Amino acid sequence: MNCSLKVQDIKTNNMRIIVLASGSTGNGYLLSSENETLIIEAGVKLSRVKKALHFNMSTIAGCITTHRHKDHSGYIKEYMGAGITVLANSDVFNAHSIPLNDWRVKVIQEGHGYKMGNFKILPIPAYHDVPCHAFLIDHPRSGMVLFMTDTFMSEHTFPGLNHIIIEANFADDILEENIRNGSVHPSMRPRLMQTHMEISTTINVLKANDLTNVINIVLSHLSSGNSDEERFIREVREATGKLVFAAKKGMELDFSINPY
Ligand SMILES: [Zn+2]
Ligand SMILES: [Zn+2]
Repeated sequence: MNCSLKVQDIKTNNMRIIVLASGSTGNGYLLSSENETLIIEAGVKLSRVKKALHFNMSTIAGCITTHRHKDHSGYIKEYMGAGITVLANSDVFNAHSIPLNDWRVKVIQEGHGYKMGNFKILPIPAYHDVPCHAFLIDHPRSGMVLFMTDTFMSEHTFPGLNHIIIEANFADDILEENIRNGSVHPSMRPRLMQTHMEISTTINVLKANDLTNVINIVLSHLSSGNSDEERFIREVREATGKLVFAAKKGMELDFSINPY
């Protein structure tokens, strides 16, 4: 089965984002050029990463993981077993009983920036029910990429963004309707409100930033029952005037700073 979802023609040597999975069953993205790849999240099997890279593992500069939940870190040990360095907060390594002095471990220290290959990575605190970080990723080929998920808000703005991957988990009106018709338990609403990003928050976070140089906005981690993909894309496009996509398994997008 060919599950590649070609929405753009991407020049071979351009930086691209490859979506391996997005959502509560697993998350995995590759920010990848011909000779360098950053794995974002460890929520899909390593075999999926290998396949997407045509088994060219030597391009992997490292993996960054936002938080301990299985859909984001479930395969961290498998990645480390293949010699891949992982940058994450200590809670992630503790959750998987990985010693912090392991040579493949990079523990996030607040306010510190990190380098993996030519990727410069700045972790930013996020707001979830466990310690969680968003990432600012800078690479000469992509420019500045913001990756933000599993957070109900953001109190930061980020200068000079070129590409954004941001959670758009649910719409409150859809959630309320699902609670009314009995398909979602009422206790879910307060939980979701304090753990995941509601679409109007996503839009407010985007609008708080200078989007002048932003090329792509990718909405991620959409809830299977409490979201509406087409509506979310439309609302974000109307609010920002940018190219907007919803992350889907197999999707590849040009994440170059100069795509043409
Ligand atoms: Zn998640
Ligand atoms: Zn989570």
